[in-house]
Amino acid sequence: MRFYRIFGTIIGLLFIVIATNVQAQLNLADTSQARAYYEQAQKLIGQKKYVQAEVLFVKVFKMNTLLPDEICYFYGKTLFELGKFPQGKSFIEKYIRLKGESGEHYLDALQLQSDLEKKTDPTANQQCEKIVKDTCHLCHGSGTALQSCTRCEGHGKIICDLCKGNKVNIEMTSFGDRYFTCSRCDGAGIILCPVCDNTKLEKRKCVNCWGRKFAYYKRKC
Ligand SMILES: [Zn+2]
Ligand SMILES: [Zn+2]
Ligand SMILES: [Zn+2]
Repeated sequence: MRFYRIFGTIIGLLFIVIATNVQAQLNLADTSQARAYYEQAQKLIGQKKYVQAEVLFVKVFKMNTLLPDEICYFYGKTLFELGKFPQGKSFIEKYIRLKGESGEHYLDALQLQSDLEKKTDPTANQQCEKIVKDTCHLCHGSGTALQSCTRCEGHGKIICDLCKGNKVNIEMTSFGDRYFTCSRCDGAGIILCPVCDNTKLEKRKCVNCWGRKFAYYKRKC
């Protein structure tokens, strides 16, 4: 009786191992098939055969395999060319969200996003616009810019850090407390901002390009 139970368990385990293996092989086959379809779809886009490309993309999505983020860009572009604007827009935005500026097709994706905006929103500016990467207009490519001082919040002065604005300092002696006019602020309670020296401006990382020295701009075609 005990023998059969152990035997049964072994057969059961063996079945699980085989099943998992078959599943893994199936996924592997799926992955290489998906990759082939994906590469073919990219070629078709290059030949402007968007209808055929879309068919392949749909097949790839149905295969439930791990897909590269770039597929969102290529599929979004295909949908745009086929006039399926709302879906195209969501795929292009997904690509931008996933890859950000590091994405190989970032600039093209920004252009498509702008074009799709015009197609899906009739109130959007309908003039032809081209997205360009250019030297930051705010910092002129230095990465830093004179901006409102953060230490004094643009006031030029701060509360004296020695007397904390009390104008006097206290010295404790055996004869009792002695009060001195604050030597740092001469009894004013406030001093010039040590960061901007009353210019109220401070050189900081550019808020337009975050120190990257370039930014993306829309230009009229
Ligand atoms: Zn003081
Ligand atoms: Zn300041
Ligand atoms: Zn800048």
